[in-house]
Amino acid sequence: MSNAEASLEHLFRVFTMPEHQDSTLSLIEKNLSDNLSDFLSRHVVAKRHSLEDIERDFADASMPERPEFVSAHAQKLLDTLVAHSVNTYAPTFIGHMTSALPYFHLSLSKLLVGLNQNLVKIETSKAFTPLERQVLGMMHHMVFSNETSFYDEYLHSAQHSLGAFCSGGTVANMTALWVARNAKLAPKLGFKGVSQEGIFAAYKAYEITDLGIICSPRAHYSVGKAVDLLGVGRKNILHNSDSNHSLTPDEALKIGRQFQAEGKDILAIVGIAGTTETGHIDPLDELADVAQELGCWFHVDAAWGGATLFSNTHKVKMRGIERADSVTLDAHKQMYVPMGAGMALFKDAHAANAVRHHAQYILRQGSKDLGATTLEGSRNGMAMMVYSSLHILGREGYELLIDQSIDKAQQFASMIEDDDEFELITYPELSLLTYRYVPAEAKALLSDPAHYRSINELLNRLTKAIQKSQREAGRSFVSRTRFEVNKYPDDVLTVFRVVIANPLTTVNHLRDILAEQKNIAVQTEAYQALMNFVTQTMATSAVGYR
Ligand SMILES: *Cc1c(COP(=O)(O)O)cnc(C)c1O
Repeated sequence: MSNAEASLEHLFRVFTMPEHQDSTLSLIEKNLSDNLSDFLSRHVVAKRHSLEDIERDFADASMPERPEFVSAHAQKLLDTLVAHSVNTYAPTFIGHMTSALPYFHLSLSKLLVGLNQNLVKIETSKAFTPLERQVLGMMHHMVFSNETSFYDEYLHSAQHSLGAFCSGGTVANMTALWVARNAKLAPKLGFKGVSQEGIFAAYKAYEITDLGIICSPRAHYSVGKAVDLLGVGRKNILHNSDSNHSLTPDEALKIGRQFQAEGKDILAIVGIAGTTETGHIDPLDELADVAQELGCWFHVDAAWGGATLFSNTHKVKMRGIERADSVTLDAHKQMYVPMGAGMALFKDAHAANAVRHHAQYILRQGSKDLGATTLEGSRNGMAMMVYSSLHILGREGYELLIDQSIDKAQQFASMIEDDDEFELITYPELSLLTYRYVPAEAKALLSDPAHYRSINELLNRLTKAIQKSQREAGRSFVSRTRFEVNKYPDDVLTVFRVVIANPLTTVNHLRDILAEQKNIAVQTEAYQALMNFVTQTMATSAVGYR
């Protein structure tokens, strides 16, 4: 055996790491499991590196020719990659839905990779398949509250599937709308179904020219990707014009009726239970009525907000979700599971058969292979992480997490409202809110119809400048987004967006973040420009601003 062959064999055969060769890797492992947040705060150094600087470390497109020692490679990773990654565990990182995870996931993920199961078929997953089916069943039960007998009949049935476990909300939305499309354009006399014959033949068979999707402008962009892939077309996403951040049932019905009157049909209403940008929940129960009236599918995107169902206090906000034909959930958001854990759930246990696919070497007719009704092929056993979290935290544990997040978001909202240099833009219906910094002098001009547009434009620049500088300073992070609000007709506002997720974030952290923003604000050019405008306007306008 050559040296190279021996080394290769060693990589696969020896599962313990010899100290002399792999010291860095074993050190990483030890430090990671000793104290993860300590490891992160020591190694993820938020230096003021621009992305362009970092790209220089990853600029070479040539294939590494010679093998490298694991230890040397690990050291390189620490220096180039880990050092310039983002510490999503920091309690002051409150800008996105990605946050800290409970510690046990670290060891469990090693187990997961160690076993390397493939859930596409039972031959490569065995017990993982029933486990995944049970996880889907538990989530299905939480959403739809069926009788035990329903689950006795369908949970492990080869002919049925209560949902599709997938990599995230995007694929879940895609899967749900795929099932909806195939159900709408189902086989009938003289037509073998859209799945066989394609969208053009399907529209001919059903004598329609288009299918539409009704949703609010706050719908996640994955809905756009889904209709693109499904051949429905992005132009057929029908938004309501309202800028109150949700889909009103009256408008949904009106949009649907009009579309149907034009020789087209509605594929689905997509209700959102917790929008990505503002956390609003559509009136699900009323939208279920509208879907019934229009004769279309009702999908609820609860990727982020779905976990609210764990809370006995807040689950009433989700009223009507149980009437959905399909529901998207993301366990890697408010269920604190590592990324790669989404689910599309179907109310009707037969629904997923609209996309069932068989192949000879796997996914044989009558097998319980999950791959027959999932969009993705090879998939890892992420369901185990959800399963373990559900057991380790329990409904009560999740309830506490959800309640605390909402409570903190509400406290943060009050803090913003009580401060005359901030403006709350959207109130946290769940644990997500938006706001902006507005110097007191500018506030007076905002209520003036003659000036609010100019002020908003200057404020948009200021918000952007503050957000960028805060991110670059690296002590804390809030995100930013842009949308219309009723308060300022025809204006698009840039706002700070905060998602409270990390249980270790305290009210003091939140207070510090506001203080830091005020500090940053006054040092920006955008602030000077705003103040100049305010001073000039006040001087030249009639009296009345004081
Ligand atoms: C995050 C999110 C998605 C997309 O989920 P991914 O896991 O990022 O693919 C879809 N819809 C909503 C409402 C979301 O918040």
